Amino acid sequence: MMFCPTCNTECKNIEIITKEEVYPVRGDKIPVSAKVALCALCKTEVFDEELDEENLLTAYDEYRRRKGIVTIEDIVTLRARYGLSQRALSRLLGWSEATIYRYETGALPSEAHNYILKRLADPVEAKRLLEKARGRLTLREVKNLEQRISFMTREELPQQLTQILKESVDRSSLGIERGFCEFDPEKLIEMMIFFAEKLNGVFKTKLMKLLWYADFFCFKTSARSISGACYINLPFGPVPDNWQLLLGLGETAGAIVMQPVAGSDWEGEEIAASRLFRRELFTLPELEAMEKVAAYFKNWSAKQISELSHREEGYQKTGRGDIISYEYGLNFSLA
Ligand SMILES: [Zn+2]
Repeated sequence: MMFCPTCNTECKNIEIITKEEVYPVRGDKIPVSAKVALCALCKTEVFDEELDEENLLTAYDEYRRRKGIVTIEDIVTLRARYGLSQRALSRLLGWSEATIYRYETGALPSEAHNYILKRLADPVEAKRLLEKARGRLTLREVKNLEQRISFMTREELPQQLTQILKESVDRSSLGIERGFCEFDPEKLIEMMIFFAEKLNGVFKTKLMKLLWYADFFCFKTSARSISGACYINLPFGPVPDNWQLLLGLGETAGAIVMQPVAGSDWEGEEIAASRLFRRELFTLPELEAMEKVAAYFKNWSAKQISELSHREEGYQKTGRGDIISYEYGLNFSLA
């Protein structure tokens, strides 16, 4: 029961209204649409501990949003991803179990703790912490965590990157600039493995051209590209849009490795396959186009294939930075 100071008695009935209030959180003034109880009889505000607690949590949430502080859900999700109990997480971090419990019931993490919790989302950081906390965890906890981390660093991380990449490019159009295919970064990376494997390592500049020739040649023979990648006219030749991101993605996914190589008067980057090519991702016309391009350019230097690509109509007739339409594939010198 709440006490009404105006009626000077216990309130029999209350009303709950929403009112804009400002709550102080760690010295900041946080505006909150607060739930406030009124005495139904005289409309005086009466203090309700439960509502006040709820408003404070709302203020905390707003404060978290403004300051980039982890939410309760963030911590629970983090534990679920690593398969950790509250106890195991507290031991991994070297904190008391009560601390994790308080954070998961709404207490605001300190700045230092927030920083650590945010970094823990990265499995590489989890691995680093595990090395230090090994003695504090049970054998089963260590084994379980090791498995999760290994899974996340090998599989999940590239998946997330693929997702980012998929969302970063305009996929709304399946037009001629993509060769009537939806862009599939996974397939493009697999094509990199194919050429790196076939040619026993390939220079970065040469690889970019091989991808272009393969996608455009497949378009010429089957009216569809292989990867759906957009190719851009750059000073050093045609390249898939986001090519640097794609190479990085390929490396993170454990598909390719990039190694700097140097001769007496030149230097470049060679790309090698780090795993076997997965044939099953491709259709027969796609494989034929790739085989043809690989066989044709096998012994060409990066410079030679670059010069040829610069003479192609698709490169000649588009401006710097422009998308090269797959239409030009129909007039490719390669037949
Ligand atoms: Zn009253």
